[in-house]
Amino acid sequence: MRTPKTALRWGLIGASDIAATRMVPAMRRLGHDVTALCSSSRMRATAWAGAHGVPHSTTSVEALLARDDIDAVYISTTNELHLPHTLAAAAAGKHVLCEKPLALSLADAWSMVEACRLAGVVLAVNHHLPGAATHRRIRELVAAGAVGRPLAARVFHAVALPERLRGWRLRDPGAGGGVVMDITCHDASVTNALFGTPVEATALAVRQGPWEAAAEDAAMSVIRYADGVLVQTHDAFTVAHAGTGLEVHGTDGSITAADVMTQNPVGTVRLRDATGSREIAVHGRRDLYEEVLEAFGHAVHGRGEPTASGPQGVHALAVALAVQEAARTGRTAPVELHPATAL
Ligand code: NDP
Repeated sequence: MRTPKTALRWGLIGASDIAATRMVPAMRRLGHDVTALCSSSRMRATAWAGAHGVPHSTTSVEALLARDDIDAVYISTTNELHLPHTLAAAAAGKHVLCEKPLALSLADAWSMVEACRLAGVVLAVNHHLPGAATHRRIRELVAAGAVGRPLAARVFHAVALPERLRGWRLRDPGAGGGVVMDITCHDASVTNALFGTPVEATALAVRQGPWEAAAEDAAMSVIRYADGVLVQTHDAFTVAHAGTGLEVHGTDGSITAADVMTQNPVGTVRLRDATGSREIAVHGRRDLYEEVLEAFGHAVHGRGEPTASGPQGVHALAVALAVQEAARTGRTAPVELHPATAL
C-alpha cells in the first residue's frame, strides 16, 4: 500500500449523481486528484469521465484498482455493490470511502470492516451529517450538560425525492432502495453519535408517493437507546415543504435545530432552558462533503478518525435494518451491533 504525503489521488467506482454533484467538486476544492472512473457501461464511463474531466475511465474494477496512481477509492455504486467493490479495493490495498448504507446486511458490512482492517487500509462511510458544524455544536452542548440528562430526540428528515433520483431508490429493493436504507441510516449516524448504544426499534413504513414504488417511501420509527433515550424519526421521499430538523430534549433544556438534516452547511441551533430561549452560535461551517474528505485524508495519514468509521457505518446500518424489520413484522426489533460470529 502506498502512503501518500499530500492530497489523495482518487479512483471513482460508480458513475453516480452524488459523485458528480457533491464529491468530485469537493475533492477538487481540496486539491485532491480525481484520476480514474469505473462504470459498468463503456458509454457511461466515457461520457461521465468526459463531462467531469476525469482523465481515465474503464469498465473493469480490477483495472481501476491495479493503477498505481490511485491511493483511495470512492465507491458510489448502488448499495448492493458496495460489498464486492469494497472487498476488491481492500484486496488491492486501496483506502475506501464507501457510500451509505455500507451494505445490505450486517454480516456483509462487518466483512467489509474486517477486510479493510486486515489489508491495513482505512474504511470510512460517507455519512456527511455528523461532521457538520451544527451537529458538532449540538453534541458539545449535550456533552456539556446543556439539556441535563437526555431523554428524547426527534428527527425530521422528510423531503421530496428529486425527479432525477426516482430510479432504483423507488423501484429496486435488491439494490437497497427504500427510504429507510436511504435516509434512516443517516439519522442513525447522528443519533448514535449523540446517544451511544441503540437497543431496539419499532416502526411503520408505507408507500404514499405519486409513483410505482417497490419499496417504502415514507417511514416513522421510534428507537430506544441504552440509557432510556427515545428517538423518533420521520423519513420520507414524499414531503416537499416540511424543512428538516433535530430536537434534543433533556431534564434541564431542549435544543431545537432547524434545517440541519441537509446536504448543505446551513441550519440554526436554539437552546431553551430555565433562563429562556436563545440562538447558539455555530462556528466553522464548511461544505459537509469536504469535511468528510478532509477527515478521511487525515485518517489515511494516521492523523485522526474519519467522520464515520467502518464500525460506525455498520451501527448506522444496524439501526436502519432494525427499523426495516420492525416495519415489516409489526414488532419491535433489536438493533444488532456486533458481528454474529467472531470474524
Ligand atoms: P445514481 O443512480 O446516480 O448512480 C448509481 C449507479 O447507477 C451508478 O454507479 C451507475 O452505474 C448507475 N447509473 C447512473 N446513471 C445511470 C443511467 N442513466 N442509466 C443506468 N444506470 C445508471 O446514484 P446516487 O448518486 O443517487 O447514489 C449512489 C450512492 O450514493 C448510493 O449508495 C446512495 O445511497 C449514496 N448517496 C449518498 C448521499 C450522501 O449524502 N452521502 C447522497 C446521495 C446518494 P455505473 O457506475 O455502473 O455506471
